[in-house]
Amino acid sequence: MKKVVIIGGGIAGMTAGVLLQKAGFQTEIYEKNALPGGLCTGWKREGYFIDNCIHWLTGTRPGSGLHELWKEIGALGDGVELHKKEMFFSSKLDGRVLTFWRDKERTRKEMLELSPEDEKEINKLIDYVSMAENMTVPVEKPFDAMNPIDFIKLGMSMKEMGKVMKAYGNMDMKELAMRFKNPLIRRAITDYMPRGYQAYAFLVSYATVTGGNGDIPAGGSFKMSLRVAQKYKEYGGVLHTNAEVEKIILRGKRAEGILLKSGAKVSADFVICACDTNYTFHKLLPEAYMPGGLKKMYEEREKYPVNSGFQIAYAVDGGFGELTGTRVFSCEPLKVGSRSVYCMSVQSYDYDPDFAPEGKMILQSNFSQTEEDYRYWEVLYADKEAYRKQKNKTARAAMERVVTEYPFLAGKLRVLDVWTPMTYTRYCNSYKGAYMSFVMTRQAKSITVPGKVKGLDNVLLASQWLMGPGGLPTAAAMGKFAAWRIIKRKDM
Ligand SMILES: Cc1cc2nc3c(=O)[nH]c(=O)nc-3n(C[C@H](O)[C@H](O)[C@H](O)COP(=O)(O)OP(=O)(O)OC[C@H]3O[C@@H](n4cnc5c(N)ncnc54)[C@H](O)[C@@H]3O)c2cc1C
Repeated sequence: MKKVVIIGGGIAGMTAGVLLQKAGFQTEIYEKNALPGGLCTGWKREGYFIDNCIHWLTGTRPGSGLHELWKEIGALGDGVELHKKEMFFSSKLDGRVLTFWRDKERTRKEMLELSPEDEKEINKLIDYVSMAENMTVPVEKPFDAMNPIDFIKLGMSMKEMGKVMKAYGNMDMKELAMRFKNPLIRRAITDYMPRGYQAYAFLVSYATVTGGNGDIPAGGSFKMSLRVAQKYKEYGGVLHTNAEVEKIILRGKRAEGILLKSGAKVSADFVICACDTNYTFHKLLPEAYMPGGLKKMYEEREKYPVNSGFQIAYAVDGGFGELTGTRVFSCEPLKVGSRSVYCMSVQSYDYDPDFAPEGKMILQSNFSQTEEDYRYWEVLYADKEAYRKQKNKTARAAMERVVTEYPFLAGKLRVLDVWTPMTYTRYCNSYKGAYMSFVMTRQAKSITVPGKVKGLDNVLLASQWLMGPGGLPTAAAMGKFAAWRIIKRKDM
């Protein structure tokens, strides 16, 4: 039986593990942390549960290959309930609120009432959101293994999406916002995603929710990761935690196995690198093996930026239904990382009663952080006490602004936890603290990286970094593709 060693117990690594075990391979996952899941995680604090990943999980609607993959690896199915959030997010400006509802017709109506002069653009936006609801993430086989018939099938299934790309594919968020005259609509659009993001990403994200294809599995991110780990073990997979890999042992054009930080060596017929690709090609393998396209993306920082977050979880003493969903509002200037921000968000996790003790609730704020902000936290991190003080100070200042916006929270809010881009680097070796892959800017070419390593016969890649903009579906698809490549290898 061929042995496959998988480095990284995130969603990509575990997906590869489940599928290879099913196909009769002997696999072992080596995960540096005490728990599996990688970025798809959450943690307990003082009786509360901080969910730190899934805002929406693409593929919750039955009828797609991705949905079947989620079921196959245990992420969905088997009675896993789904939370169907009523709103995507809302934005507030000068006392007026615009909400992007799950029910897109309600959004259309609200937008038209707000700004009749934008009727044409509003109708166009909502009609194209309808079309984007048919977007699917192809998970059948790696793109470089697709034949003309596969491409024709893919093209047919993406017909509607083609129209969306034609209309919104060559525009960034700022340009999309500027198509509207109404300041609140403009604000809402730029509140949602950084201005340099491609506009179609906004339509696709919103369509995932309106199309019922982006719900949240009950129990949230960490429980989903545990279900996948459980499925892996049920198929006979071996998951080693607290097992950091130091490097891949090479001999000629092959990997012989891996060297653990503990000094132990593990031999393997195949090695799958299922962790951050920057880390893979700087620590686990010599940089010379990095695929050319990927190297270019790391070099062209303006064209392929990455984002992270400065995040705060607040414990709320009481339940406030009016705070449901994600709400963006203007605030007094607040320095977060290297820049001042003028608006912020709070997200309520009231949809899962298990996340807070009875009669209480949990809120989170997430401030988008650029590479420059990352540098700020990285420098500060060298002095742990200064880093701790600054993040707590920023969190308190943010909390004050939440109370200014929602005065009924006065005396009922306290900071439960604060984490920065550095947290992701420390926890998952994430490049510049990014928790998704490269941003899809207008200047960026399609972001796809082959899952093979040129010059090494038996080393595969599986990570969200292989296809922009990353995310859980990409991680699962890339895990599946790595397994597919190994299963198809007749010569081994
Ligand atoms: C705040 C936040 C919100 C998000 N929201 C969403 C969302 O709503 N929807 C969505 O689809 N996605 C979302 N994501 C993104 C999603 O979490 C990631 O795309 C996905 O989890 C990446 O999976 P991965 O397996 O590619 O990488 P990772 O999760 O990074 O897994 C890699 C694993 O490798 C391990 N590792 C690293 N180095 C070593 C080593 N040397 N030895 C052993 N193990 C090692 C790491 O510890 C980690 O467990 C969000 C992420 C965050 C943080």
